Amino acid sequence: MATADHVDLERFIAGVSKRNPGQPEFVQAVQEVAEDIFEFIADKEAYHEYQILRRIAEPDRVMSFRVCWEDDRGNIRVQRGWRVQNNNAIGPYKGGIRFHPSVTESVLKFLAFEQTFKNALTGLPMGGGKGGSNFNPKGKSDHEVMRFCQSFMTELYRHIGADVDVPAGDIGVGGREIGYMFGQYKRITNEFTGVLTGKGLEYGGSLIRTEATGYGAVYFLQNMLKNVGDEVAGKTVVISGSGNVATHAAEKATQLGGKVLTLSDSEGFIHDPAGIDQTKIDWIKELKGRRRGRISEYVKEFKGSSFHGDGARPWGVACDLALPCATQNELNGAEAKILVSNGCIAVSEGANMPTDLDGVHVFKQAQILYAPGKAANAGGVAVSGLEMSQNSARISWKEAELQQHLLDIMAGIHERCVEYGGRKDSKVIDYVRGANIAGFKKVADAMLAYGVV
Ligand code: NDP
Repeated sequence: MATADHVDLERFIAGVSKRNPGQPEFVQAVQEVAEDIFEFIADKEAYHEYQILRRIAEPDRVMSFRVCWEDDRGNIRVQRGWRVQNNNAIGPYKGGIRFHPSVTESVLKFLAFEQTFKNALTGLPMGGGKGGSNFNPKGKSDHEVMRFCQSFMTELYRHIGADVDVPAGDIGVGGREIGYMFGQYKRITNEFTGVLTGKGLEYGGSLIRTEATGYGAVYFLQNMLKNVGDEVAGKTVVISGSGNVATHAAEKATQLGGKVLTLSDSEGFIHDPAGIDQTKIDWIKELKGRRRGRISEYVKEFKGSSFHGDGARPWGVACDLALPCATQNELNGAEAKILVSNGCIAVSEGANMPTDLDGVHVFKQAQILYAPGKAANAGGVAVSGLEMSQNSARISWKEAELQQHLLDIMAGIHERCVEYGGRKDSKVIDYVRGANIAGFKKVADAMLAYGVV
């Protein structure tokens, strides 16, 4: 039997690196989880004997395919598409599709791995998967996006299904893209099933799916604060991103009495000392949504605010609470130190793995409240799970009912993290450890039941 000493963890990570050359994001995600799991399984022989962690860190399968499409000038363009099916021990593969030039197999493997734990944490029966392409929807016409989505689905359709693998949106994939992909799936298969989530309300979508990730990240923050007798009201909040997750996180934080100071995009961040209230958030939603504009335009509209360009990130702005909601590795160790020294007491990750490993260690050492994405941003996939249930039963739940489900699910995830995240040496809950162990245990126990398959 393997022992869980430090050397073993290093050897395990070295093996993961060797088997996945040139895939740093994937290795990083596995390392973050393995640090906690090695300690947890030290005295649990079955998990070693059946090589459970090693098996979860090897995707069930990775599909890579060519996606050809024609742009508006008649040029033939070639992109690469992927679907990573990481683990379906507790339910059909489930996870978003990302369209962004930074997408690689490594990025999608890390996201599918993380998704496996996240989905288990929700308490719903969903396995982990992720997909996407290096296609950049920015600057493309609607018809170009449509042709790309149709071509992407022409290959993807054979790998997915309502009981097999149910994709959703992610960076660069919103309602428009889901509509085009669902339309193509329906056309090819002649089936109307809940094969994608995040659909429009007219064709099987669920209320509050759009809001769920951002709202959920703030509910998680609220749960962490409540646990130490504190609240969001009266606190200053720094948020990165200005897409779906960031704008809805800003909305919920504002509704709970917080004052949101920043939002960003890949070009830089805006700082508004007066606070980004609901009217301003609505303006940003319109800007980044239908108008597909840049966050820098905010300063022309709202006096007293400033724009910091060249890809600057907002972590130097003093705040009580921080919500990274843009992308992976957008908050490093040095920035984490600045947040802590400026008095930040809690971080809740709306994005997936936005804090790099150094940053995670800074937050853990400082013992501030720190919620990893796999726990804090699980509200989106949870409501996707509810969309699947509604589609199977051919019904639509009312908004109030869904809002209550989301609140309950986020409270449930918080409880599971507290259950496994307590440490003998500290009163502060280690939410990273709690999320990793609670997610792992559910998937691992199902895998043990199946034997070696
Ligand atoms: P959107 O495409 O709606 O928004 C992404 C935002 O992040 C945009 O403001 C974008 O700026 C910014 N961004 C993207 N890449 C970079 C980069 N390399 N550097 C700086 N900023 C960047 O995506 P979502 O809001 O849906 O997703 C945001 C994060 O939340 C992702 O990590 C995603 O995986 C995660 N997430 C999303 C869920 C969902 O339900 N949508 C569910 C769970 C997690 P720009 O406009 O310049 O590209």
